Amino acid sequence: MGQPYNPNAPVQQARPPSMPQSMKCSSCGGPLSPGSGLALVVCEYCGAVTTMGSGGAAEVIQKHYMLENKLSNEAALEAGGKWLNKGVLRRKVAERSDLGQVTLRYVPYWIVPTSVVADFQGTKNVGAGAGTGMMMHGDTGAKKAAGAALFALTMAAAAAGSQNRNQSVNTQQQVVRVRDRIQMQYNIPIVAVRGYTKYQPDDGFQFQLQSKMNFDKRQTGGVDVQSGDVTEAEAKSQAAALSHKFAEKQAKTRVDNLESIQVYPTTYDGELLHAPVWFMEYAHKGKQMFIVIDGSSGSVIEGERPSFSLW
Ligand SMILES: [Zn+2]
Repeated sequence: MGQPYNPNAPVQQARPPSMPQSMKCSSCGGPLSPGSGLALVVCEYCGAVTTMGSGGAAEVIQKHYMLENKLSNEAALEAGGKWLNKGVLRRKVAERSDLGQVTLRYVPYWIVPTSVVADFQGTKNVGAGAGTGMMMHGDTGAKKAAGAALFALTMAAAAAGSQNRNQSVNTQQQVVRVRDRIQMQYNIPIVAVRGYTKYQPDDGFQFQLQSKMNFDKRQTGGVDVQSGDVTEAEAKSQAAALSHKFAEKQAKTRVDNLESIQVYPTTYDGELLHAPVWFMEYAHKGKQMFIVIDGSSGSVIEGERPSFSLW
């Protein structure tokens, strides 16, 4: 359970008891009490993160950063409410939902620099009025393209027949083949706590890393700092998997019908970021949902909301 955020919390002097322990923080010497796993153990005294290297040697993670929480409880609720109400049909969802628990925690994320090259091909409808509902959705790509081409001919014929009566009929329907390459760079955040799937952005959210600072427990305002149990190697393979999704999404903005795509991700060594994250539970019409908000930028990382709500 996280404590409520208190910006005025007294700065605690990190003074570990001097009792001998088999596992000690090599940053401050305090005893470590690993919970679920040994991948990322946060020292409760100084906040340093110890990881078990291969061979079982404990080492402190040097590239360990944090973002500052800038949201008060009220501001976090407001940000969540705004996101809930976004969209014409979704007005007053927030007002008609029952707020459950609201928790702020420092959650560990691996930030994995990932570069992606993707080769794709497909077809694109060009010309005014392209793709006006005549595509046969769910068909194979080839059939779709053929269907569209046929449609173009039909339109042209119709236009020729009605030329004298109606000059404005659109005759410019065309399908062109697209073969292209995407190259992109992402800093993909991978949540480093196995059970925290709801904290994992899967839609391209990125933290504002330009505001990061070296991790300093005194800057956390007394908020819970979570340990983790996901290794960097695991995070890298998750980032590679996510980058497939991003590349596909990007390719779909360039074609109307994506026929094939080959994605080649490369992941690099990253860093560990403790991000202040607000987790809100709410119930709408009896359904339990959640919103996860970045306390540094105020942006929604992930969440659930009703697809629409008329009343
Ligand atoms: Zn320590």
